Amino acid sequence: MFFDRIEAAPADPILGLGEAFKAETRTGKVNLGIGVYKNAAGNTPIVKAVKEAEKRLLASETTKNYLTIDGVAEYNAQTQILLFGADHEIIANGRAKTAQSLGGTGALRIALEFAKRQTGAQTVWISNPTWPNHNAICKAVGLTDKPYRYYNPQTHGLDWDGLIEDLAQAQKGDIVLLHGCCHNPTGIDPTPAQWETLAKMSAEKGWLPLFDFAYQGFAKGLEEDAAGLRLFLQYNRELLIASSYSKNFGMYNERVGAFTLVADNAEAAERAHSQVKGIIRTIYSNPASHGAATIALVLKDEALKAQWIAELDEMRGRIKAMRQKFVALLQANGATQNFDFIIEQNGMFSFSGLSPDQVDRLKDEFAIYAVRSGRINVAGITDDNIDYLCESIVKVL
Ligand code: PLP
Repeated sequence: MFFDRIEAAPADPILGLGEAFKAETRTGKVNLGIGVYKNAAGNTPIVKAVKEAEKRLLASETTKNYLTIDGVAEYNAQTQILLFGADHEIIANGRAKTAQSLGGTGALRIALEFAKRQTGAQTVWISNPTWPNHNAICKAVGLTDKPYRYYNPQTHGLDWDGLIEDLAQAQKGDIVLLHGCCHNPTGIDPTPAQWETLAKMSAEKGWLPLFDFAYQGFAKGLEEDAAGLRLFLQYNRELLIASSYSKNFGMYNERVGAFTLVADNAEAAERAHSQVKGIIRTIYSNPASHGAATIALVLKDEALKAQWIAELDEMRGRIKAMRQKFVALLQANGATQNFDFIIEQNGMFSFSGLSPDQVDRLKDEFAIYAVRSGRINVAGITDDNIDYLCESIVKVL
C-alpha cells in the first residue's frame, strides 16, 4: 500500500473556516472569513454587466474549439489597458505580454515558475502579514520566502521603517512581492510618496517586483488603484503582475486572472512570453474560455464597461459605508478603544486588532466567524447583522 502512510494535510486556514461556517447550526451566524463581496442583503450576486455579456456571448458563440495557450487575446489586451492605461508607452511599444490565467492564484503560480526558471530568482520577499497562499506558492515552486515587516500593531498602520529596513536586505534579482492595492489582510496601502520611494529603491537595487493585483477598483477607483504600479513602471523596466478579476467582476468561480510581464523591449517581451507559454502548456495546456470571453466583452463595449464600473463603485461605496457604521456602532456599544483606523483601510478587509483569543470567543459564544489573525471581511457586514456583530465584539474586547 502506498497511501496508508500519507499524513492528512492541515485544513486551509481561510477556506477551512468557510467549511466550519457551513456546518454551523446556530441562527444569526455571521461569516466575516473568506474574502467574498456581499451586497446589503448578504448575497454575492452576479454583476449585471456580466450577466448581459454572458447572454450575448451565448447567443453569438459558434465554437468550443481550444483557445491558444495564452487565452483570449482581447481579454489580455484589455487587461493591459486596465493596468497601464490605454495610452501608456508600454502598450504602444509592445513591452508587455499577458497570458490569461486560472484566477490570480494561477497568475501568481505562473509568475513564480517563470521567475524561478528564467531569471534565476531564488528569494521572494513577502510582507508580514500577507495572504497565506503567497508563502505556500513560493514553497511549491521551490523558492525561498523571506518576510518584510508591514504592520505596526501599535499604530494599526504601516510599519514603514521596518519595511524599509527589511527590504534594504533584498539582493539584486530577488523578487519583491507587493500588493497593488487593498493589502490583504491589513487593508493598509503605501501612500503615493511611499510607493515612489519603493519604486526608486527597486530600480537602484535591481529587484524584480511582482505586483499582486487582486482588488483593482476596491480602494479608490480603477485608475487611482493602479497608481503604485504605474509609479513603479516609471522607474523599473522589468516587472511582473498577477491580476485577478474574481472580486472586481464578482466572477469567483470562473477563475479569471492574468499574468503580465513587462520587459525592456518588445523582442525581450516576446521571448519571455514564449517561456511563459511553455510553463502553461505543461500545467493545463490552455485556459477555459467562458469567464475571459465574458470579461473581454464587457471591457470592449463602452456601455457595458460603464455599467460594470458603476457596479464596482457601488460595491466599494457599500464597504466604505459599512466601515463608518461599524466604527460608530462599536463606540455606541461602549468600546473604549479608538477604531478609527478601520475607516482609513482599503478594500474588503480590515485588520481589526482582535486577538486570536477574541476571535475564538466570537466563534464559540456568538457564532461569528473571522480569521484568527483578526482579519475581518467588511463586505460580510450588513445592516441586518451589524448590531449583533458590534454588541458581540464589545463583549469580547
Ligand atoms: N491575491 C490576493 C491578495 C488575494 O486575496 C486573492 C484572493 O483571495 C488572490 C490573490 C487570488 O485570487 P483568485 O481567487 O483570483 O485566485
